[in-house]
Amino acid sequence: MAAQYDLLIVGAGPGGLAAAVAARALHLRVVVLDAGPRPGGQLLANDTPILDCPGLDVATGSELADRLRQHLERLGGHVRVHAPVERIDGDGGTVELAGERLVGTAIVLATGAAPAASVCPARRTSRVAACHRRPDGSVRRSRASRWS
Ligand SMILES: Cc1cc2nc3c(=O)[nH]c(=O)nc-3n(C[C@H](O)[C@H](O)[C@H](O)COP(=O)(O)OP(=O)(O)OC[C@H]3O[C@@H](n4cnc5c(N)ncnc54)[C@H](O)[C@@H]3O)c2cc1C
Repeated sequence: MAAQYDLLIVGAGPGGLAAAVAARALHLRVVVLDAGPRPGGQLLANDTPILDCPGLDVATGSELADRLRQHLERLGGHVRVHAPVERIDGDGGTVELAGERLVGTAIVLATGAAPAASVCPARRTSRVAACHRRPDGSVRRSRASRWS
């Protein structure tokens, strides 16, 4: 029989972890599923101090990720890592991962973002320009300015 939860959260970046902390504070049965080896999402790629979270004083994104995980664990929640979700049925409230099906009253998608290639061709230049992708897919470059 499929495991039953109040809340299934897909993605253990700061969005998914924050949702899980809030859910556990309400005593909901919650599980967070992440494809990666460690909770944190994009935070794990940030080696610099986090300066824009009031009340937090952490040296790296990785440290913030550990704090979020610890907060969740103190509230009795946990993250399942190496758990890539392959299929979601929002109407049925199910998610599927390798050989397993979980059922939840609600599902939170917190799958974040992944790096993408720049829309500008890479080239060495002393000029700097901003590039924007228009809705029709074409690329607009703003006027270049020169470093001096
Ligand atoms: C180098 C760097 C520096 C940054 N600095 C700042 C900063 O100073 N201030 C700031 O506000 N923001 C900063 N950001 C941006 C910030 O990290 C992101 O906005 C934030 O991490 C987004 O959180 P998220 O939870 O929505 O998604 P993410 O952090 O992208 O996490 C998504 C998670 O979902 C998982 N996932 C995806 N698909 C699946 C699937 N099918 N099954 C299971 N799991 C899945 C991924 O493995 C990942 O762990 C920075 C980002 C980077 C890369």
